[in-house]
Amino acid sequence: MSVAYIALGSNLNQPVEQLNSAVEAIINLPTTQVLAVSSFYRSKPLGPQDQPDYVNAVAKIETELTPLTLLDALQQIEHEQGRIRLRHWGERTLDLDILLYDQLVIHSERLTIPHYDMHNREFVIIPLYEISPELTLPFGIKISEVKNKFKNHKMELAIKNK
Ligand code: ATP
Ligand code: CA
Ligand code: CA
Repeated sequence: MSVAYIALGSNLNQPVEQLNSAVEAIINLPTTQVLAVSSFYRSKPLGPQDQPDYVNAVAKIETELTPLTLLDALQQIEHEQGRIRLRHWGERTLDLDILLYDQLVIHSERLTIPHYDMHNREFVIIPLYEISPELTLPFGIKISEVKNKFKNHKMELAIKNK
């Protein structure tokens, strides 16, 4: 069994519902348990600003799926929830990124783990810290230290069950 962390994001077609159904779909993946889901946070978009705000969360899972099989499964869930990609960092119904997979470091054509930009994104670090404040990332980096960069974040919570 491996432990992985997944970032969830949506800014189209009722983002809160998109995240709730994504969590449901992850629960239903073979050999996979969802151990924790963070609060849902409202955040400003990266890249183009003429798009709606996002709702973001992080889930902690336990799985026997390999990193690549997990990526396939997550991309299938994105697809099933009608993901279309109009432009780079543009609006989307659902984005599922693998942040961490045990302590693995992967640089392959389809997969970079840890996620290459997670340290710079408050909408990833704050929910990750919420569910795993004791976490140490590869290379001995403590989530509690990364989180200090975002002490004054202005993200609000979204109601999960709406
Ligand atoms: P960003 O990666 O900056 O968050 P994005 O999520 O909008 O941007 P996508 O268009 O969703 O980027 O993904 C592009 C490709 O990234 C995917 O096809 C996938 O192969 C690759 N990728 C590399 N590493 C990861 C990872 N850790 N999790 C998910 N996808 C990844
Ligand atoms: Ca992403
Ligand atoms: Ca992605």
